[in-house]
Amino acid sequence: MAQPLKIAFAAAEMAPLVKIGGLADVAGALPRHLAAAGHDVRAFLPAYSSIAAGRAPVHPVEFIGTIPITLGTRTYQVTAKTTELPGTGFWIYLVDCPELFHRDRPYTDDPDEAQRFVVFSRAVLEFCQRMGWSPDVVHCNDWHTALIPVMLRANYAWDGLFRSTRTLLTLHNIAYQGGFPAAQLSQLGLAEHVRWLDQEDLRAGRINFLRSGLWLADAISAVSPTYAREIQGDELGMGLAPLLRERNERLVGILNGVDYQEWSPDTDRFLPYPYSISNLGGKRQNKRFVLEQLKLDPDPDAPLVGIISRLVPQKGLDLTFDVLPRALESTPLRLAVLGSGERRYEEFFSGLEQRFRGRVCFWRGFNEELAHLIEGAADMFLMPSRFEPCGLNQMYSLRYGTIPIVRRTGGLADSVEPWVPGRPNGTGIVFDHFDSAGLAWALGRALAGYRRPHEWRELMLRAMTRDFSWQRQSRQYVELYLRMMRL
Ligand code: ADP
Repeated sequence: MAQPLKIAFAAAEMAPLVKIGGLADVAGALPRHLAAAGHDVRAFLPAYSSIAAGRAPVHPVEFIGTIPITLGTRTYQVTAKTTELPGTGFWIYLVDCPELFHRDRPYTDDPDEAQRFVVFSRAVLEFCQRMGWSPDVVHCNDWHTALIPVMLRANYAWDGLFRSTRTLLTLHNIAYQGGFPAAQLSQLGLAEHVRWLDQEDLRAGRINFLRSGLWLADAISAVSPTYAREIQGDELGMGLAPLLRERNERLVGILNGVDYQEWSPDTDRFLPYPYSISNLGGKRQNKRFVLEQLKLDPDPDAPLVGIISRLVPQKGLDLTFDVLPRALESTPLRLAVLGSGERRYEEFFSGLEQRFRGRVCFWRGFNEELAHLIEGAADMFLMPSRFEPCGLNQMYSLRYGTIPIVRRTGGLADSVEPWVPGRPNGTGIVFDHFDSAGLAWALGRALAGYRRPHEWRELMLRAMTRDFSWQRQSRQYVELYLRMMRL
């Protein structure tokens, strides 16, 4: 390797220890792939109570110890701990502060939500100081750690340790920006550093962690090239488009990778019948197994459609309100839905399950095993997102030969190649317009394709060969870090 880099990677979720969404998958995979490539990577995560209560042993890091972090009039004691990301051999640093992180969920609506992540971000830099370790890059992720570029100027500018440290802020989803009333400035220890914060926000009586971080980060990345373009437009920019357009020379898109150790049909520990390109037979057996487990009518010839999703407006499931009942009435399809979220979606899928007994299963909640089983069993995967920064399930689906039906947005557009019946290319069904007609057209095309087994099989095999591995994608981050160091 030309030059091993020192990378501090800070995130509020890290699979498999703490997972809410795609951020966890990235933070659980990218740092260790960079480390495996020879870089000195130190990853930081809050020590949520669920981690201490989990199966991974947690140890104190004696040489860092306990550090007081003062915000306004309050001082928080943070202690450095370490644990292995289970099953990976990669050790991470935990920022332990029970009064802030021992709650029943990683994210809360509690009045000190902003303090929680300010303390976490400060702790990342304080731990680096105690280690006497000068990172080339601090890689921040989403609003929780977006203030690190601000802190490096406001709180740590005096410390030569960070003189040549660069910051990268990765946007996993700009819908979540960390907005708080400006009245909290002094409680956050930011009152004397307001010149580093976004002034327009301040005039409006707010602080917005993401916006302030985006102004000062040396580089910005979004989790797919298409999303990087889309967020510069007013429709998906969520109020940040003008800023992102202004900083567009510092903004790149890098598609997330997939952890194929976790997500490969030939080695998947959850699949009763592993399968691969050279032996697809197991997929049909998994389908039979899953239909039985989910108490769905056992017709292995009827197409099985899967959905695994947070049930929130972003995921575009409003389109299914119209389309799925009609498709279930007019075709024999089976539907397996896994997810939880807003009530209206949960009620819709529960209603569908009642109405189409034996044909629809709605499993409400989070279930890692079932997510793998659905990927391994289903014929198609539905992801009609309104917007999708990257999306992982469509990439898992490709590897499992579970043909994705997606809308052309964000990472869906960058990872699924449109298939046109009769043509020897393409890996999934892609529709453009966010409306029921678009989804109905796409589902219709998939169901018609499924009735032509030879062509469908070719489509599956093409999908299964696509490579979105972290080995590949992490190289793009290294190139970006190197470019940043030349800034
Ligand atoms: P987002 O981050 O917007 O939720 P992504 O597709 O990027 O969407 O990542 C979602 C991740 O969470 C995937 O790994 C997916 O399998 C997983 N996931 C989502 N909902 C569930 C669920 N109910 N049970 C198990 N895994 C889920």
